Amino acid sequence: MNPWMITIDGPAGVGKSTVARMLAQKLGAVFLDTGATYRAVTLAAMQANIDLTNPLAVLEVMDDTEFAFFHEDDKLKVVIDGQDATMTLRLPQVTEKVKYIASQPKLRAELVRLQQDFAAQFEKVVTEGRDQGTIVFPNAEFKFFLTADPQERAHRRHEELKAAGKEVDFETLNRQIVERDASDINRTVGPLKPAADAIVIDTTTIDAQTVVNKMLGIIKTKDKSD
Ligand code: C5P
Repeated sequence: MNPWMITIDGPAGVGKSTVARMLAQKLGAVFLDTGATYRAVTLAAMQANIDLTNPLAVLEVMDDTEFAFFHEDDKLKVVIDGQDATMTLRLPQVTEKVKYIASQPKLRAELVRLQQDFAAQFEKVVTEGRDQGTIVFPNAEFKFFLTADPQERAHRRHEELKAAGKEVDFETLNRQIVERDASDINRTVGPLKPAADAIVIDTTTIDAQTVVNKMLGIIKTKDKSD
């Protein structure tokens, strides 16, 4: 099946997941968080105690591990070898190590295929990540690219963690955001960049609902003119 696709790309902490989830709900579409696929492989490799910088060893772990991605209650649930890993994937120890997986061409090729196979099961999909509009779904109906000032993104992460009862130093979060931007932008495969036909939305001074309303307006206008 060739699903009707909307892609949302952008840097860490820009609000992609929140916006993608809200937009998917409005459109009756399935939501795909592709960061979770990179995180799942990272976690499986960490649990197997292998060298994460060795792509062949990681490929072996991928072959030996059973990954399941489910769409449940508007969320992407991730099960690794029968264990629910949805929450563990978000731990800072995992976030720190994802770059080893995300920068390896062979591993990215596997994950791109996995994301395309996941989407092919549904009629309508809203997907978010770094390379969705450029590499994974180049024929998507609508492509959005979200940006926001790095300090504002660090501030949002800080508030999110505080709300979850976790106090993390703002400067640490700010540094992590800057480091993740650099590693996502500078890798040679699937780097973070807007597709040539993406609509760029700066979210620095607007909330998630306003971003979703803007997107819905663009989708409606285009659909009417077709
Ligand atoms: O979006 P999230 O923060 O969960 O992504 C975790 C990491 O996975 C990112 O920092 C990025 O390096 C990688 N990623 C990627 N391509 C995607 C989605 C995520 O390289 N499509």
